[in-house]
Amino acid sequence: MNDIEILTKANQLRCRLGLDAYSPVNVFELAQSIDGLTTVFYPMGENISGMCLKGKGGTCVIAINSAMSLGRQRFSMAHEFYHKFFDENMKAICAMVIATESGKDTEKIADKFASYFLMPSVGFDNMAEKLASSNSDNKLTFGDIIRLEQYFGVSHKAAMIRLKNSAFLARNKFEAFFSNNIVYSTAERMGFSTDLYRPSAEGQSYGSFGYYITLANKLHEEEAISDGKYEELMLSAFRPDLVYGGGGDSEYVID
Ligand SMILES: [Zn+2]
Repeated sequence: MNDIEILTKANQLRCRLGLDAYSPVNVFELAQSIDGLTTVFYPMGENISGMCLKGKGGTCVIAINSAMSLGRQRFSMAHEFYHKFFDENMKAICAMVIATESGKDTEKIADKFASYFLMPSVGFDNMAEKLASSNSDNKLTFGDIIRLEQYFGVSHKAAMIRLKNSAFLARNKFEAFFSNNIVYSTAERMGFSTDLYRPSAEGQSYGSFGYYITLANKLHEEEAISDGKYEELMLSAFRPDLVYGGGGDSEYVID
C-alpha cells in the first residue's frame, strides 16, 4: 500500500467518525464513541505500545500502554484504529517502534495511518506553511515544530518523522531537531503543558472504557450476572471506582 492509499484511508475514517479534514482530534474521547469498542489502559513495560483484539459481531478491545508518554499513547490509539478498521487480522500486538525500516509492513502502514489520522494532511501542511513563512528562510524553527506537535497532540518523534522530506524543514536541520533533548524545557518556556511528553499520572495509568463497561452494567441491571460477578468483572477491568465508589454523582457539578 502506498502513502496516498494510506492517507486516503486515514481521511476516510476521519470522515466516517465525523471529523473534518484539518483539525486536531481527541482520539481517546473519539474511541469511547465507537460502537462495540472497549479501550483498556495499563502499563505494559517498554516493548509493547498497544494491542488490538477483535471479537465476534464487530466487538473489539484496544489496549494502550499507559507507561508511554501521552503523545505516544495518542499515536498508539490511532495506530490501533488501523488494525480495527482496515487490518484483516483478528489480533495485533504492536511493538514500541514508530515506522522503522525493520518493522513489519502492516506495522509501518499502521504507523503512517496514525500519522495522517492525527496530523491530517491539509491542516498540518497549512499550519507548517504558515509557521515557516514567518521566518526569513521560509523553514520551520525548532520552536515551530514544538507548536505543531502541541497543536496536533503528538510526540516530538512523530512530528519529526512526519516532517522528514517536508519542504518546510531544512534538510540539514532534521538530525539536530530530531534528537534535540530540550523538547520538554522548550515547550515549557513557550507556555505549553508538558503532559504530552509524560506517561499517565499516578492513579490514571489503569482504566477501561466503552463497550465492556456498558455491557457488564447492562447484564448486572438485568440481573443476568450476580453482584459478585459484576464486581469481579469491574476489578479485572481496572475499574475499582465502579465497585467501591470514586466520588461519583456526589462530585458532579452542574456547570
Ligand atoms: Zn500494530
